[in-house]
Amino acid sequence: MRYDPTNNNLRNLIIGAEQKVPLSDGKEVTAINFDNAATTPILYSVLKEINQFAPWYSSVHRGAGYKSKVSSDIYEQGREVVQSFVNSDKEKDIVIFTKNTTESINMLSFILSQQKYHQKVILSTSMEHAANDLPWRDKFKVDYVEIDKQGRLSIEDLEDKLIRYRGSVKLVSVTGASNVTGYLNPIHKIAALAHKYDAKILVDGAQLVPHTTVDMKAFDTVEHIDYLAFSSHKMYAPFGSGVLIGPKDDFMETNPFLQGGGAIRLVTPGRVQWDEPAGKEEAGTPNIMGVVALTAAIKTLQSVGMDTIYKLEKALYDYAISHMKNIPDIKFYSDPFKGDTISVIPFNLLGIHHDILPLILSGEAGIAVRNGFFCTHPYCERLLGLSENDTLQKYEEDDALFPGMVRVSFGFYNNYKEIDRFINIQNIIAEDKEYYLSKYSKVLSLTQINKEVGRCTNRTNFGC
Ligand code: PMP
Repeated sequence: MRYDPTNNNLRNLIIGAEQKVPLSDGKEVTAINFDNAATTPILYSVLKEINQFAPWYSSVHRGAGYKSKVSSDIYEQGREVVQSFVNSDKEKDIVIFTKNTTESINMLSFILSQQKYHQKVILSTSMEHAANDLPWRDKFKVDYVEIDKQGRLSIEDLEDKLIRYRGSVKLVSVTGASNVTGYLNPIHKIAALAHKYDAKILVDGAQLVPHTTVDMKAFDTVEHIDYLAFSSHKMYAPFGSGVLIGPKDDFMETNPFLQGGGAIRLVTPGRVQWDEPAGKEEAGTPNIMGVVALTAAIKTLQSVGMDTIYKLEKALYDYAISHMKNIPDIKFYSDPFKGDTISVIPFNLLGIHHDILPLILSGEAGIAVRNGFFCTHPYCERLLGLSENDTLQKYEEDDALFPGMVRVSFGFYNNYKEIDRFINIQNIIAEDKEYYLSKYSKVLSLTQINKEVGRCTNRTNFGC
């Protein structure tokens, strides 16, 4: 098969792919979503499955009624679908349903902080989303593996740090793919290194699992991934579910992250007998709709093929880069010409502030992109060449001058025609920056006035 997104039939799988949105002059155009790294649209198959399941919707694990049994069975089967998708060990691992990657990593940090082993160091990296940085900070000594000039993870520094901490590293906690640069990290090589020095590995799969094949590999291989976290809303399934996968043994002796009904076997005034994991980590009424949506999405992604998805998105990425590089005054913040990436491109159009360009793209061409620091502040600071002091100082200064980047991110349903519209409008903007700046700076200052009178709570756009 040739991976040619020009005639991309897979677009038919997506709800709202042809949705019209208004431009600033009131005309309507078909919306273009280049913000898939934030949240993807919904698959038809997901809503179909939700509708088919709806008559059976009932309380999971709680009722004796027939529908409750159906709901509970579907919920439990969801774990198997997830395990097959990422090749997790059905005997040794558990799949815990959470609300998203953020909750999954917070849960894991809480669980690991209760273990009595001597290892107290977490090696995170300088390219992590806040979800895979902050949950570790208040419970462990955290150190950050360095990145090189292009923002790629330094495997040499990882090994240096593993050696320097001499067996005290509990976990190497690394993103599978960056939500800022799109760089894919060599997770199995990192796993082998971590295991060599008696540490485990968590892969933040939020940007990885939706875009390429993920294989946790067998427990007895050095390349095995110990823990994996990801979110459904980034893989075409709304309704707020997420996943944490890890060895069941690690959850046996610890207190659960959330406490309450569903997590218990027996409670007396003086004693609590917890349920077995995974149930023990799923206190409260489970999100069955979230699990139905996720399993339906996984089945559709599998039928398209994760390798096909990767190749289609890579074709979009290469096409976009080859045209973007000719736009006057474009500045990239990743190295698009070397190494593995998912299809995420951070850039600026010099002379147009990153808060303003997305307004222009939306108002003039119906294109949705994201800007700011993408909840990955230290990494973005580095890519922008800012020191910590620079950032703190700029934070205290005028909002309108706060630095940042613009990000486009593709899904398998996007096509070359959409990229053409994106390139075309940017060439037009680049030719007459003054005009667009004056037109859209007014929109921005109105937003700021609204903020000041309390109608909008955002400060500058730190967009996750
Ligand atoms: N990790 C990465 C790499 C992400 O891109 C995101 C979402 N932007 C998260 C974690 C957090 O995901 P969620 O908001 O679904 O918890």
